[in-house]
This record gives sequence, structure tokens and C-alpha cells, in this order.
Amino acid sequence: MSTLKAVRGTRDLLPPETALWNRVEATARAIFARYGFGEIRTPIFEDTQLFVRGVGEETDVVSKEMYTWEDRARAQSEKAQSLTLRPENTAGVVRAYIEHKLGDTGMLQKLFYIGPQFRRERPQRGRYRQFWQIGAEVLGPVPSGAESALRDAEVLEMLATLLDELGIPRASEANGNTGWKLWLNSVGSSTDRPRYINALKSALEPLKGALCVDCQRRAETNPLRVLDCKVPEDQETINNLPKIADFLDEASTEHFAQVRSVLDACGVPYVIDPRLVRGLDYYTRTTFEFTSASGLGTQNALLGGGRYDGLSEMLGGPKAPGIGFAIGEDRLILTLQALAESSGNALNSDKLDAYIAPMGIAQNAAALALAKELRAAGLSVEVGEGSFRLKKSFEFADTLARRIVILGEDEVSTGILTVKTFATGEQTKVPHADLAAALARS
Ligand code: AMP
Repeated sequence: MSTLKAVRGTRDLLPPETALWNRVEATARAIFARYGFGEIRTPIFEDTQLFVRGVGEETDVVSKEMYTWEDRARAQSEKAQSLTLRPENTAGVVRAYIEHKLGDTGMLQKLFYIGPQFRRERPQRGRYRQFWQIGAEVLGPVPSGAESALRDAEVLEMLATLLDELGIPRASEANGNTGWKLWLNSVGSSTDRPRYINALKSALEPLKGALCVDCQRRAETNPLRVLDCKVPEDQETINNLPKIADFLDEASTEHFAQVRSVLDACGVPYVIDPRLVRGLDYYTRTTFEFTSASGLGTQNALLGGGRYDGLSEMLGGPKAPGIGFAIGEDRLILTLQALAESSGNALNSDKLDAYIAPMGIAQNAAALALAKELRAAGLSVEVGEGSFRLKKSFEFADTLARRIVILGEDEVSTGILTVKTFATGEQTKVPHADLAAALARS
């Protein structure tokens, strides 16, 4: 019989790598708590219309990449419904904000999520069909201050702090610019954008014949997407197209200037990228992306986000301006692994405090009782099995733990245990009463 495998573009995450995932998530949770965010967990599948209306029908995510199915009616009274595995989490969070009338509190809502998302993309390093995002949204009614440039700057400063605390260096000459970099732009308000799109369309009209086939199509269907083109021959033409900065109205220009001045005051470095328009239709004003050149190859975007002042209304809700981001957790992990490899610092090197080796079947019960006692004292412990030879016990113990505790007939009757520390090779006799303290020493 042929063996079954994980579906293309999905993968199993196994120990010890999962310890790194847990460390990343614990760091993110601790930072979210410090910045006043609470956790939201929305369903993994939603009504397809949520993404069609929220993300935009013309986007690649909605037009090509969604896992959508017709959910059969189970009873005559039920209607069949089109459902979709969530390709991103912002639309779900805003739906929940509307559904639970969170805006009625009048307070700013600061929500974070951690979970899998699904897109039918062509799998490659750093791009999967099931991938994890760590994201957050700040939204609320206008009087809560949700529209303030301070909120944009706070979110960006929090992200810089997160990457710093995870140990990803900032890009500098010293690291050959492989560290993280923040790219920033403003795509203007919902009135600025149509004016810009028209200007872009007119500018593209005489030029598009010289661009790649994809851009020729985009010039007609979604001209903003031309700015995302990576084809080398197209770059010069695209760099000379009109820039959105020249189409921002006074309010958007002022908002963007405020975001930058708060970032300058907080010491968060950024690079203005006039071509950063991002793939989802709901963005207004501030858009951003953090990249890292460590371990990611062409998929170098670690995270992305922006402001979405009209999204709640697009979903039938009240006015609720907001800003959010999503970090590609898979890519964060790849970056941390690459950094550890290049610096020679081992990841996942945490060993257990002790391995208990009973010398015969007769000591199995005493070994498990001792393990229970040490675990209750907060130590991490693995237990061998009495039928193992001493050599096999030592081999196992050496890969798993910092110390081995030998438990033979004598040790059980005298209560004096033999402990060997692998790093030093030192072997000592330790009374049972002192064992937990001795094993806790580094
Ligand atoms: P987006 O939701 O498209 O704004 O993406 C936000 C972040 O999610 C990106 O910067 C990536 O780090 C990550 N991401 C998006 N799509 C994928 C994917 N197919 N596989 C892995 N990570 C992804």
C-alpha cells in the first residue's frame, strides 16, 4: 500500500523545532501584554463573502488562492453555503468587532491573534499553503483615537521591539544589511487612491507594450499591482511612473509626516518605499513591510501591514478606523535558524536536568517515584527502563540530559545516589534529601 504524506505545501512541525516556535510565541505574547493587547481567536473558516468583500475580489489572494467549498445543506431547512479557509485574519477580526459591537464600548480595541492561515500558492522555501501568522489589530470609533498617527507609530515601534527581543539584528553595514529593515509608505485615503490609479493608468497606457505580460494585464485590471513587479527589465520604467506621494491630500500628507516624526523620536529606522502598495485592497494611508535577508531567499518579507480606515464599513459595520499587521511566523523561524547557524550558536540546545537510570526491573518503581518527586520540585526529568544495559542508559542520557542518576539495589536501600555530570565527567554520591538541589545546579 502506498504511504500517505502531508499534503503539498503543508508540513509537520516537530520537536525540537517546536521549542523555537513556542519561544517566539511566548516572546510575542509577553510583548503584546506590555503594549495592552488582548488575544482574539476567530474561526478558521468563514463565509466566503467576508473575504470577497473585505480583502477584495481583484486581489490574487481572493481570485486565485482561496480554499473554498460549497458546504452542503444537512437538512431541508438549511441552505448550502460557500465557506472558505481563512487566507488572513484581519477580515475575521473586523467581522468579530462588528458582530460583538466592540465599538459600543467607545474604547480603542487592541487585539492580537496567533494561528494558521491558508492560501493555495506555489510552495517554495518560506511560502506554504498552510502557514502561521502572528498578528494584531488596533481599531475603534474615531473618538477613541483609532485614526491617530500615534497608533501607527506605536505598532511599528512594538514590532521593532519584538524583532530586537527575538535577537534579529537591525540592518547595518556591519551585517551586510542582512538584518531587519522597515519599508514604509502611505497609499493615501479612499479619495486619494482613485486619483492616483487614474494617473497611473494614463502613464502606463503608452508604456505597457514594453512591460512583461503580467504587467500588461495588470495595467488594465489593477494598475497598482504593476508596482509589485519583480521582472528586472521592467524596473526602470516602473521607477519612473507617478508616485503616490504626489497624490496625497493635505490630511494624508500630514498623517504620514506625523507617523515619521514619532518614529524618528523613538529611534525606529525606516526606508520610504514609494512602490509599497501591498496585495490587499483594504489598505489606506500607512502601509509597511519588514524584510530580513537572513535565510529567506526571495521570500524576504517577514511581515506586512497597514491602516484600513474603511474596512469596517465595507463589511457593513460602523466607522472604525484601524491599523494592523501580520508576521509570517514560518519566516521568522527560518530567519532565527539561519542566524543561529551563521553565528554558531546552537538553537534548541536545552537539555533535561536529569536522566534516571534504574539498574534492573526491580528498580523501575523506585525510579518512577523519584522522577515524580523531582518533577514536582520543578526539574525536567526523563526515566530509563530497568532492562537497559548501563552503556545504553549512558548513551540515551548523554543526548537527552545534563546529568544521569543511577539507581541500583544499593542506592535504593541506602538512599545515597550516584550522579554523573556529563559536561565535567564528575561522578559523586548524593544523599536523596540533597538530590533536587544538586540537579538544579548548572
Ligand atoms: P499578508 O497577509 O499577505 O500581508 O502577509 C503577511 C506576512 O505573512 C508576509 O509578510 C509573510 O511573512 C507571511 N506570508 C504570507 N503568505 C505566506 C505563505 N504562503 N507562506 C508563508 N508565509 C506567508
